[in-house]
Amino acid sequence: MKEIVILSGKGGTGKTSVTAALAHQAALAQPGRWLLADADVDAANLALLLEARATVAEPFVSGAVAVIDRDTCSDCGACEAACRYEALAQIDGRWQVDPIACEGCGACLDRCPSEALSLVPQTVGTCRRSETPYGPLHHAHLNPGQENSGKLVTAVKRRARAQAEAEGCAGLLVDGPPGIGCPVIAAVSGASLALLVTEPTVSGREDLERALATVRHFRVPARICINKADLYPEGTRAIEELGAALGVATIARLPFDLSLAEALAAGRPVTAHRPEAPVSRALAALWTTLQAPLGHTAGSA
Ligand code: SF4
Ligand code: SF4
Repeated sequence: MKEIVILSGKGGTGKTSVTAALAHQAALAQPGRWLLADADVDAANLALLLEARATVAEPFVSGAVAVIDRDTCSDCGACEAACRYEALAQIDGRWQVDPIACEGCGACLDRCPSEALSLVPQTVGTCRRSETPYGPLHHAHLNPGQENSGKLVTAVKRRARAQAEAEGCAGLLVDGPPGIGCPVIAAVSGASLALLVTEPTVSGREDLERALATVRHFRVPARICINKADLYPEGTRAIEELGAALGVATIARLPFDLSLAEALAAGRPVTAHRPEAPVSRALAALWTTLQAPLGHTAGSA
């Protein structure tokens, strides 16, 4: 089974619009044969472009936080010295745990003479499955202030892979998170191909270089898609040269096209909303290119 993850070095490059268009193309080419996953759990919005209807929502539990039993606590303050994370503080004369700062290490439990502290599992987000006209979508939402987004990405991908394998799907399209941190590593892990969406700007080139280094570290083949490539040809050339120097092919140059913004506002893939628009034709061609055997696309890394 193919697994294509769409990434960008930073947010705002058009990554999710590209993913939505590819989901539409996959559904046209092989109806019911591709599954979708949104691994951008900090700002999951692929569902908004795919007319998604949530059918399953499950709490995602990861790690634990300390909790004080108010009836047992004598407010002696002995627990504070054990906490390296400054998660214990006195408010209005009563000791409290800051659940955002607490790392769930459990060091404070042994210090409490009243056995008033305990660790409770923490719900850090919600895993969802939705039906869309373009195939089932697995996605998730991380609760505010939570740090376990890498684990939540892994949970989303596990669920999506399990369904795809059980149903004998041809592939899985993953909308990856921006940046180069843990969530990106979790999204890239085990992928057949990473498609990096960038823009022809100085920051686009810098961010792409860092994202490529991350992807290549995990030995995942990469390709480049330049959005708004015609706005700054010199910048486009610089990105193509960077890719060529690293042995990574640029396989799509999307033109600037207001249809993309119109499709965003309408909450639809641009290829479904304006199939004849120049950007839609370029995205359809990108899908065709991605269907070449993954190991044989020109200029592979
Ligand atoms: S569990 Fe660890 S981090 Fe949390 S309050 Fe206790 S000592 Fe601090
Ligand atoms: S050590 Fe125990 S009893 Fe003392 S303030 Fe902390 S939780 Fe309360």
